[in-house]
Amino acid sequence: MQDRFGREITYLRLSVTELCNLRCRYCMPEDGVCKKAHAEMLAEDEMISAVRAAAELGVTKLRVTGGEPLVKRNIVSICRRAAEIPGIREVCLTTNGTLLPQLAAPLRDADVKRLNISLDTLDKQKYHYITRRGELSEALEGLEAALSAGFERIKINAVLIGGFNDDEIPALAGLTRKYPVDMRFIELMPMYDSGDFGAKALVPCDAVLAALPGLQPQPDDGGVAKLYRLPGAQGNVGLIRPVSAHFCAACSRLRLTADGKIKPCLHSPLEYSIKGLDEAGMRAQFERAILEKPARHAELSAAHRSESGRNMNQIGG
Ligand code: SAM
Ligand code: SF4
Repeated sequence: MQDRFGREITYLRLSVTELCNLRCRYCMPEDGVCKKAHAEMLAEDEMISAVRAAAELGVTKLRVTGGEPLVKRNIVSICRRAAEIPGIREVCLTTNGTLLPQLAAPLRDADVKRLNISLDTLDKQKYHYITRRGELSEALEGLEAALSAGFERIKINAVLIGGFNDDEIPALAGLTRKYPVDMRFIELMPMYDSGDFGAKALVPCDAVLAALPGLQPQPDDGGVAKLYRLPGAQGNVGLIRPVSAHFCAACSRLRLTADGKIKPCLHSPLEYSIKGLDEAGMRAQFERAILEKPARHAELSAAHRSESGRNMNQIGG
């Protein structure tokens, strides 16, 4: 289905939980989330009905996210059932990777086609600092498990944070030489109340081009990243610029939060609840959300944080 601005809406990001085993400083508060009552959150059957309703309106791609989707007990079942829905051509998943040693193979068996793994640093101490508790070795073992499980594509995502990991751009991009993966750098988005990094942390993706003069431009693949490649690499380096050059004009996305709110735009406070509705009711809410999808989001900067009213773990990125 098209929105008012002629954008075809084909991509749903489904957040299956707000909970996470890490506490990344830019994503969620240190004390975690105030755990909501079970009854407020979408049940597995409701998630599946919602994906079916969205597929009837033309959604073909589903990305499962969170919070950390792999802490969800029934994650494999959710992915398998979603992948069987008529019209859904691919189910992808975004994870911090730490639980992939146990779950990579079951997720691949459940027909998850692609994985995005978040990894902001290759330094053990910095990983522990930015995640407030994580072990780098667990994320790297997760990456190895994902490579062995045979996903169609694996992308590694790093949030670019000035003064934290901008000195690691060559090392992170170097992963595309070591492994058949894409490495994507994402500009830090100042969210509701997570992470006060100050203006110097908001580094534009131009820093990647400056640090890697050998990058060769690559053809567009229809995604939000501008693509490049290092000589001799097995995968691309992608730049995602939600702050310095937003991509709203080509946005094909809707988001569904774990507590059942459709968000037509990541940075807008607009939300449409589907909790407790039957499939026809959900479909009507998806239609409303598509028709009300804003033309673009407001400026993001150190002085102007996202208007979404949520932290990233409560949306799904
Ligand atoms: N837990 C999973 C993970 O970390 O990949 C999935 C959920 S996480 C919210 C999805 C993506 O959002 C991750 O790649 C994360 O780095 C990114 N993210 C979170 N907060 C962000 C922020 N303030 N700015 C830019 N990206 C952010
Ligand atoms: Fe958890 Fe992902 Fe947020 Fe990090 S970015 S706190 S891993 S949800």
